[in-house]
Amino acid sequence: MTVNALTMYEDKSFWARDFGPYIPNPALQESIKVDVAVVGGGFMGLNTAREFRKDNPNARLAVLEGEVIGNGASGRNAGFNMTLFGLEPQVTKLRWGKQRTVEAYRYMVKAVNYTKDIIESNQLDSDYSHPGFLRVAYSPSQVKTLQGAFQEFQDLGLADEMGMRWVEQDELRSNFNSPLFSAGLTETHTGLMHPTKHVRELKRLAVEAGAEIYEQTPVTLIERQGDEVVLTTPGGKVRADKVVLATNAYTHLLQGLRGMRSRQFPMWTSVIVTERLTDEQWASIGWKDRQAMEDVRQLLHYFRPTADGRILIGGQDIHAPWAMHSNMDHDHNPETWRGLEAHLKRMFPGLRDVNVAYRWCGAVSVNADMTPEIGFVGDERIICSTGCLGHGVSLTHLNGRLVADLLNGSKTELTDFWIVNRNAIRLPGKVLSWMGTKAVRHTLKTADRIFERNMPA
Ligand SMILES: Cc1cc2nc3c(=O)[nH]c(=O)nc-3n(C[C@H](O)[C@H](O)[C@H](O)COP(=O)(O)OP(=O)(O)OC[C@H]3O[C@@H](n4cnc5c(N)ncnc54)[C@H](O)[C@@H]3O)c2cc1C
Repeated sequence: MTVNALTMYEDKSFWARDFGPYIPNPALQESIKVDVAVVGGGFMGLNTAREFRKDNPNARLAVLEGEVIGNGASGRNAGFNMTLFGLEPQVTKLRWGKQRTVEAYRYMVKAVNYTKDIIESNQLDSDYSHPGFLRVAYSPSQVKTLQGAFQEFQDLGLADEMGMRWVEQDELRSNFNSPLFSAGLTETHTGLMHPTKHVRELKRLAVEAGAEIYEQTPVTLIERQGDEVVLTTPGGKVRADKVVLATNAYTHLLQGLRGMRSRQFPMWTSVIVTERLTDEQWASIGWKDRQAMEDVRQLLHYFRPTADGRILIGGQDIHAPWAMHSNMDHDHNPETWRGLEAHLKRMFPGLRDVNVAYRWCGAVSVNADMTPEIGFVGDERIICSTGCLGHGVSLTHLNGRLVADLLNGSKTELTDFWIVNRNAIRLPGKVLSWMGTKAVRHTLKTADRIFERNMPA
């Protein structure tokens, strides 16, 4: 791989650019036999590898990453180590009932603490802070929606456990100089990280635990042969007793196994990062606690400060072009990037002169029932994780521990989590799924237009 070809990875996000030159591990150049092969080098694959090797120091485990560590969502996300599970709690409760919703949120609180603990106990260079989370409503309808969510968390008995507090407009406006902020809901269990630094620190931990990591090693075919699963890569075959598919939004493109296309599809979300703000610009907007933030739109915005004093804002729209069925090269969405910049300046008029320095997109994994899933594929030799939507940072870390338990054949508190081998609704086929995406996007956009009719000017 030439230096020029490698620098293209630095354009994948502000985080990758900020990380600077990265030298990947060599690609696989021979055929090998391992106990466990992990396909995909994101949070999920790397933490599974780290945990399994810690449990089984004599086992051979290889991680096969098709591009470089951090190429997927794990290197490009907004870095919220957060408790949100699937969509809104009301939606989860409607589909899965009260008990399972409570279990899911308790799992997420554990996941946030577990991720924070990995960072702190290993002193990872992940630019981690733990400033909490604030959701803000702009219009009277959005205030009602947010009150509904708070009420739901109270009814579920989770609001205190999750450190939630309602914030009235006066208090909000004393902390933020924004004409849009009308009410808010805070939560203590949320941290912020630099995702590219963090995923590459996780790589270091996995290597230190004894995992072999091969980068630029795409798996092009997966076959069962006798007792083994055989993975084909350009440089050689990997024969494995067990395989973990940690390929997230790319899973529909895996070749050789039945049912991968109907498990999930990718949806791209767009992000921009400003240049560094001056002290005057920071003073003009407030935001003293520098917490993670989202709004209450259907197609929501997520925004946060970076450790070096910029603002990241993402969301607002999603795209899932037809070509997603053959490749994942859809990292470009100028219309949404422009919309994000306009929204940032509307939200914080003090930033009217700030320039945008970076723009990118990344794919999240979406399934038919909008709920994360970990499951065996065919039999217990192959395990797959999908459907984290845009809330997979903490989840994929703890899921890595859970999948290590499954690989060990152990029944634990984690493997009892109901997302494991759940009865998932499968996608109805390429054309219908694609049309469904368009319809959902249209509905969400319309709902936002209606809910924002009475927004402050
Ligand atoms: C823009 C954006 C913002 C987000 N913000 C947040 C947030 O703030 N908080 C939050 O909780 N979640 C967020 N998410 C979601 C979160 O980032 C993901 O859920 C999580 O990182 C998924 O991790 P993963 O390891 O499962 O997958 P990924 O990180 O996507 O890793 C999958 C890897 O598999 C590799 N791969 C694919 N196919 C093959 C193959 N055939 N052979 C070998 N390798 C292969 C890919 O190259 C990739 O590196 C965001 C996502 C995006 C895109």
